[in-house]
Amino acid sequence: MDISQDNIKKILVGDCAQNNVFFQAVQEVISSIAPLLNSDERYAKYSVLERLMVPDRVIKFKVSWLDDNNSIRVNTGYRVQFNNTLGPYKGGLRFHPSVNEGVLKFLAFEQILKNSLTGLPIGGGKGGSDFDPKGKSDFEIMKFCSAFMTELHKYIGPRIDVPAGDIGVGAREIGYLFGEYKKITSSYDGVLTGKPYMFGGSLMRPEATGYGVIYFTQKMLELEGKEGLEGKICAVSGAGNVALHAIEKLLQIGAIPVTCSDSRGMIYDPRGVDLPLLKELKFEKRASLELYLETHTDAKYTPVCDYPEGEHGVWGVECYAAFPCATQNELNEADAKNLIENRCVSVSEGANMPSTPEAIASLVNHNVCFAPAKAANAGGVVVSEFEMSQNASMQRWHFEKIDVKLRFIMEQICKRVVLTAKDYGVEGNYVDGANIAGFKRVADAMIAEGI
Ligand code: GLU
Repeated sequence: MDISQDNIKKILVGDCAQNNVFFQAVQEVISSIAPLLNSDERYAKYSVLERLMVPDRVIKFKVSWLDDNNSIRVNTGYRVQFNNTLGPYKGGLRFHPSVNEGVLKFLAFEQILKNSLTGLPIGGGKGGSDFDPKGKSDFEIMKFCSAFMTELHKYIGPRIDVPAGDIGVGAREIGYLFGEYKKITSSYDGVLTGKPYMFGGSLMRPEATGYGVIYFTQKMLELEGKEGLEGKICAVSGAGNVALHAIEKLLQIGAIPVTCSDSRGMIYDPRGVDLPLLKELKFEKRASLELYLETHTDAKYTPVCDYPEGEHGVWGVECYAAFPCATQNELNEADAKNLIENRCVSVSEGANMPSTPEAIASLVNHNVCFAPAKAANAGGVVVSEFEMSQNASMQRWHFEKIDVKLRFIMEQICKRVVLTAKDYGVEGNYVDGANIAGFKRVADAMIAEGI
């Protein structure tokens, strides 16, 4: 295959400018996996790259729903079923105004490699809508989820495609989506993961991504011969599910997470974040972080408008380990420079693509241990697969069993990434190691399955 930029752009972008972000992601993976492609002529012979970078199908549909004023609203829904070589399509649903076809193709492509790295039998997909949940009432969320599922149910199934949550889609939305699926199909299938525990969800699914990032980081630091996280100052961004559970695990192991943030500002609490208060503010009250100061006068709240120009606030704090767990592109080159100057030892991505390419290059060049999202945040999809297993066998696993299995898999991913990087001459580069190891498993399976 002609892997020149022009040819790949022609295949991936076509006449849709939205696909540029997808093209960039594929381009980045291609540059990473060159040593693998050159190592075995079968990859070219079977056109694996060409076949893998084009989604199996992109489903696009209209979602009409009624708001609280009885006005009809229209949004666009999508499901990208990218690749099911290793198992049913698996990946989250994102409800956010920034959602479009290109973004979802990019996320689904990343998901193939992430799911492959877990070693579990799951393929890659992603979906969502440009619907903005912000400011919507509970009934509006419910009505939107029902309307979304009216279309989506035609394309999913426990052995076909199993969506889960992502930004804007948590247990509440999954509950509404599941209820509607059941009503339409009269079938109680494990067709979504991240369900509330009372009707088929798995224990530890809410904690999984945040805990998994910490398990990965602990192993990475151990393999790199660095000191562990115990007693160390850590910076965490975000105040959602991933961030809060990363903070929880850090506190459990005796680390000191001193920050958290939301779209409006950040908290710096030098004594360590008060987790019960944070959970109350974000999960129960859905309130501003500023209220943290009402009971913690020695903490500091900085609104986004007061961040130093070109920086993101949290990354200006001195820390041993950093955990971007908020959103895309929240850690740029200037932020990376701050972390390097402050002698930060590791950066682990809890969110999907939180670091810009320039930030990653800068961190890797300065020997900061950098754990990319597709490896470090795989804990969520790992426990999603446990939920699929439990649903299929009509069983429920206890917390300790899930925790042990999750830690084992996160450590395996870490070792696989390190060893692969070593084998392909890019030792210490976790980005390349993850891309090569993730791609290799899918590519070998594609060859074995024929066209
Ligand atoms: N949205 C999560 C991710 O990016 C979870 C996907 C899943 O559980 O299927 O990995």
